[in-house]
Amino acid sequence: MKLLIYSLTLAVLLSQSTHAATIENTYPGVQVLQYHHVSETTPAVTSISPERFEEHLRFLKENDFNVVSIEQAAQWIDEGANIPRKTVVITFDDGYANVLENAHAKLKEYKFPYAVFVNPDLLEAHPSAYMSWEQLKTIDAEGATIVNHGQTHDHLIRRQENESEAQWQARMKYDVVSAQQAIDEQLGEQPKYFAYPYGEYGPELEALLSEWGFKGFAQHSGAWSQWSPDTAIPRFPASGRYANLETLSVKLNSLPMAVSSYSPANPLLSNSDKRPKVTVELDKTDGMNTDALRCFAGSDVLEPTWDTAHRFSVTPVNDIPVGRSRINCTAPSARGGYHWFSVAFIRPDSEGRWPD
Ligand SMILES: [Zn+2]
Repeated sequence: MKLLIYSLTLAVLLSQSTHAATIENTYPGVQVLQYHHVSETTPAVTSISPERFEEHLRFLKENDFNVVSIEQAAQWIDEGANIPRKTVVITFDDGYANVLENAHAKLKEYKFPYAVFVNPDLLEAHPSAYMSWEQLKTIDAEGATIVNHGQTHDHLIRRQENESEAQWQARMKYDVVSAQQAIDEQLGEQPKYFAYPYGEYGPELEALLSEWGFKGFAQHSGAWSQWSPDTAIPRFPASGRYANLETLSVKLNSLPMAVSSYSPANPLLSNSDKRPKVTVELDKTDGMNTDALRCFAGSDVLEPTWDTAHRFSVTPVNDIPVGRSRINCTAPSARGGYHWFSVAFIRPDSEGRWPD
């Protein structure tokens, strides 16, 4: 009898899990992985070794992740499509030559499309470090999408000395629009996707990107979803200390949070804003264990205060560092994995500067 009940339970469970594969994903999203160098001889913080990189590709394949092009993902998100879980986009910033040398052939072998965000001025000035236009044409023809990382890889939102508003806007136009013209001239018209150098963005730059018809990709973590602002799309860093597959797999299996608004939406703080209070408003919380929602600032665990059933806030318990940092919030999902949301910060020093 026991065995019969067990078999029946198993049958029910199996039919449920088959059913689960076809039901609507109520938190559709795409995990965007961000790489830079694929090399053992480049700065560790932005590098992944060729061996470790291939482990990532093998992991994605063996665990049935669906690696799609950045255009495909954008189309699905714009349409509000029922994107299945385990959908991934692979991106590289800067367009280093070692991507061609150490990653391209493997990506081609796995039939994984990928995107490379390039800096036209830099690749023309330093041909040994970066892929040339000819090389970019080759990888473009073999599954890569070539997109925009700015002409110069400058700190875009950091005003230069005595820079007027008009001068700043002209600099932004050069960095974004003329970079796109250079890319389109070389490769034919490419999608208007811009990855912010250093992941640094703010409302004024976002407004310009929108006006010029660009989507903006940043460097705070979380899934790209219908709830992501079009000009602050999150990506999961996957190189340096983030290359570890144990932690990366948690991110790859995560779900978006249905965030309708959050503050501060402007990552750029003042030097004195050492413990910014983060407030997050959610569209819905179904399937999300809100009691277990926690936020993380460095190694500090922050307990949220729920103002309403759909709005929580957290305040750092220690000063956030000068430079770029993030507060990540996660909550377990009833469907397995974690809902994930991240807020980016840039806290300048007293002179208004911060490290690269
Ligand atoms: Zn970069």
